Amino acid sequence: MNPSNERLEIGDIEVVRLLDGTFRVDGGAMFGVVPRTLWAQRAVPDAENRITLALNCFLIRTPDRTILLDTGVGPNVDRRYVNFYSFERDPGLFGLLNGLGLEPSAIDIVVNSHLHFDHCGGNTVRTNGGPWAPAFPRARYVVQRGEWEQALHPVERDKPSYIPARLKPLGGPGILSLVEGDVPIAPGVEVVLVPGHTAFHQGVKVVSGGRTFFYLGDAVPTAAHIDLPYIMSYDLYPVDTFNNKKALLARAAEEGWVVAFSHDLSHPFGTLRPSGKRLDFVPLK
Ligand SMILES: [Zn+2]
Repeated sequence: MNPSNERLEIGDIEVVRLLDGTFRVDGGAMFGVVPRTLWAQRAVPDAENRITLALNCFLIRTPDRTILLDTGVGPNVDRRYVNFYSFERDPGLFGLLNGLGLEPSAIDIVVNSHLHFDHCGGNTVRTNGGPWAPAFPRARYVVQRGEWEQALHPVERDKPSYIPARLKPLGGPGILSLVEGDVPIAPGVEVVLVPGHTAFHQGVKVVSGGRTFFYLGDAVPTAAHIDLPYIMSYDLYPVDTFNNKKALLARAAEEGWVVAFSHDLSHPFGTLRPSGKRLDFVPLK
C-alpha cells in the first residue's frame, strides 16, 4: 500500500513514512523572515496564504525492535484545532499501522522529536470522553527530560503548542524514558539533541550497513527549509536552529545521509548535494 518513495532500507533496518494526515498553516509563519516573493516559489499558498503540510511519522523496524518516530496529531483532535488548521486525517497513523498488520501493541518504542501537539497527538488516546491512556500499551516513550518539563509547564509564548492533559498519563510507572542529550535507544538507533525549535528538540539517527538515516523533526520541517534562513516563526530559539541546522546538514551532505522531514508532504526524505554555497535537495529515486 505504500508507494516506493515511502519506504527505504538502511542496512538491515527498514524505514517507512506513515502520513498521519495533512493540515494548513500560514506560509509566512512557516518561513519566518523570508519574504513571500521567495517562499511562494517553493510552496504555493492558497487564497488565505496557507500552505499544506504533512504530519509525517516514521516507522523504524530493526531486526528486533519496532520503533515509531513522532505520532502526528492523533485521532482525538479538538474541534477548535480542526477548524483552525483544517486537519485531514484519513486513514491516519493508526489506520496505516493497521494496514501494515501492526497492532498498537506491536510498537516497542515511541520517540517524540518534541511534544508540540502535532508531534505527540497519537501518544495517548481516550474512548468516549474517558481518561487519556497510552495508545501503545507496550511501548517505552523516549523524550528529552527538558522537553517533558517544558511540555508540562510551558513558557507563556509556547502554551498554545502543548496539551499537558494529554501527556500526563505517560508519567505513570515504567512508560516514559526521559533522556538527556545524545543517547542510543536500540542497536543502530540514537536520539540526538537538535535545539532551536524548542530548547530540547531532538532528532533520530539510524545507522546500519554503512548507511545513515536522520529524522530532522522540526529543525528542518520540509525540503524547502534546507536553506539556512528558512526557519519557522514558531521556533523559540531561531539562532540555535540556524547554527544546529548548518552543522547537521553540512555533515549530512558530506556523509551522504538520507534526511527525513517532519512536515513535507511530497518528499518525506531525500539526500543533499552541495551546489556552490548552498545544498540542493535530491529526492530518493
Ligand atoms: Zn511540527
